[in-house]
Amino acid sequence: MKTRVRIAPSPTGLFHLGGLRTALTNYLFARKERGVFVVRVEDTDQSRLVPEAIPDMLESLRWSGIGIDEGVTGIQSTKHKVQSTNSKERYNRIKKLVIQKGNFGPYIQSERLEIYRRYAEELLRKKIAYPCFCTPERLDKVRKNCQAKDLPPKYDRHCLSLSEAEMKNKMAKIPYVIRLKVPNSGKTVFNDLVRGRIEMENKLLDDPILIKSDGFPTYHFSVVIDDHLMRISHILRGEEWIPSTPKHILIYQAFDWSVPVIGHLTNILNMKGGKLSKRDGDVSVSDFRQKGYLPEAVINFVALLGWNPKTTKEIFTLAELVREFDIKKLNKAAPRFDQQRLEWFSGHYIRQKPVAELARLCAPYLEKNIKDKNLVKKIVTVQQPRIHTLSDVNREIEFVFKLPQYPKQLLRWKDMGDRAVIESLRRALKIIGKIPASKFTLTNLEKPLMAAAGADRGPLLWPLRVALTGQKQSPSPFECAWMLGKNESVERVKAAIRKTA
Ligand code: GLU
Repeated sequence: MKTRVRIAPSPTGLFHLGGLRTALTNYLFARKERGVFVVRVEDTDQSRLVPEAIPDMLESLRWSGIGIDEGVTGIQSTKHKVQSTNSKERYNRIKKLVIQKGNFGPYIQSERLEIYRRYAEELLRKKIAYPCFCTPERLDKVRKNCQAKDLPPKYDRHCLSLSEAEMKNKMAKIPYVIRLKVPNSGKTVFNDLVRGRIEMENKLLDDPILIKSDGFPTYHFSVVIDDHLMRISHILRGEEWIPSTPKHILIYQAFDWSVPVIGHLTNILNMKGGKLSKRDGDVSVSDFRQKGYLPEAVINFVALLGWNPKTTKEIFTLAELVREFDIKKLNKAAPRFDQQRLEWFSGHYIRQKPVAELARLCAPYLEKNIKDKNLVKKIVTVQQPRIHTLSDVNREIEFVFKLPQYPKQLLRWKDMGDRAVIESLRRALKIIGKIPASKFTLTNLEKPLMAAAGADRGPLLWPLRVALTGQKQSPSPFECAWMLGKNESVERVKAAIRKTA
């Protein structure tokens, strides 16, 4: 049987790190097995729709390099076309722009309502499912009754006692839900790919609702119908769905369908061991993208959150991950989200980039729209070893864009007096002045200045660095002078001498 895996995000918010991890795991498995990676949108909970969620998910996957083979694969530009302020209307307009590809569509659940109804009716006919007309008030009472007796909250099957005629009559007149009749005894068992055998006593299960009174299916029902019809061979999803899986298996059994292989991935925890949430900072993929983390870093980081290569190797490109991915090595223990580790990965990948490419990537983050390409190249060369994210490209280089303002005391290295400062700046000026403007390179600056400074660099290099930047912290004086160019450097050192004199 062909390996077919899927992610089935509900468009209820921005695509987050946990979603990316599930997507990556499915994608790697599909690539490894020469299978198919499907994306299906599960939008049956119409009250929680977020219009931008589908474009955000698609953009996050595209940015990460995770290619979609089938299903919801892309979107036409949403700009200018989606003006409505009503969120449901906006969602529906965006939905029309979605590109779907494959033989098992539609791949958006709200476009499949007919299919779910047909299958629910089959179960009604077989008497494995039944209509339920109970009001929310009655259901609430039943729930409270269970609570009072310390029993698991379960529907009391009141509507199952209706005669055929009563049932038909009510069905024509009042809204109803369709419930599955769960067997009263026995166990539902499955072998989780990550956690091994999981079982549940059927008598503890509530009769799950398959179709809601608004005609939409519940997640439990549509997920089973679609995974079956879309020929999904393996379901790899977050562990929050473990309690739902026995219900799903009972639905497969009701139709006499074979159950796909199922594995539940551990959730990502924050550093304190709690559930990773917005409170822990950025958790949506687009936040990381906007902050200027490189996709290679995010993918490498996320891959190692859930999967252990069992070696000391840490750096993996997407192609290497595909080669080395092994479903048997999925972590059983919940990983923790360590921001510093992500930054380390991002810094690593930044240092691997050719300067020209890094300059292109940093362009949107540069403080000003710098026209001088040469200056951009210099800035990027200086910053490349120092930064962790693309947005860091502006760190400590304000002085390049504006004349430094600083108190003259800042020019002093330790207990230097004004005269010593002036003398030091004059020495530096002489060295800088000798380098022709056309040869004002990093090495030509560094060599003579380092030689003149000797072992105790502070007295020569600190005043020079402050004269150029006016900042307590900055790149090295050679790098600062190189970025500023000969004329500007000379002018700033002269101004510092005037300031001290
Ligand atoms: N719609 C569910 C979600 O957004 C999918 C769960 C599953 O993969 O079965 O998480």
